[in-house]
Amino acid sequence: MRLLLVEDDRMIGDSLRAALRLDGYAVDWVRDALAAQSTLSSERFDLVLLDLGLPKGDGLEVLRALRARQDSTPVIVLTARDGLGDLVAGLDAGADDYLAKPFELDELNARIRAVMRRHSGRAQPVLSHAGVTLDPATRQVTKDGAPVLLSSREFAVLEALMQRPGALLSRAQLEDRLYGWGEEIESNAVSVYIHQLRRKLGADLIQNVRGVGYFVGTPSSPKEGDAQ
Ligand code: CA
Repeated sequence: MRLLLVEDDRMIGDSLRAALRLDGYAVDWVRDALAAQSTLSSERFDLVLLDLGLPKGDGLEVLRALRARQDSTPVIVLTARDGLGDLVAGLDAGADDYLAKPFELDELNARIRAVMRRHSGRAQPVLSHAGVTLDPATRQVTKDGAPVLLSSREFAVLEALMQRPGALLSRAQLEDRLYGWGEEIESNAVSVYIHQLRRKLGADLIQNVRGVGYFVGTPSSPKEGDAQ
């Protein structure tokens, strides 16, 4: 999952980015409202963590502009504890949830998962397909009931594919989920993670359409070429 962090406080930003990356998220970080506007109008994210008090504008403007473009990317607003007015304004401007600073990372993670679940229309927190289950909260994966150990990047690839069964994800889309700006992309990394996932979870779980991408399940729009 690819997150955009909009936060001008260097210490908070640094520690949030480091912690979220450890949890397997690809995190990009901008420090003012102007940079947030231009990034959000040119790139796609799965979720935005948005501080409201920002230089060069403010977070509410960023949020209103996003929603004015009919962009429904989930947004969690980060506010100061006494900023009740801010938080009401944030929700009214189209935020999906909020957190008052300071907050615990566990709570942030739980809210990210809940917002993503609502956004995808899934009531069930656990993803499941063909005998394989993936629990985004506990980060546990099982095959036929038995636990399977995955690295955080293998987990991120599998989660991306299982969130939308049948949807084809290209190598570039998967790389986006795995790496933030400035992180060096290891060549062939996606193929390696797919290979590992097939080895651990069975060769049939993840299909690929040569030159197009990967999917689990039945493709939602059959493409030319042989799925294998
Ligand atoms: Ca701030």
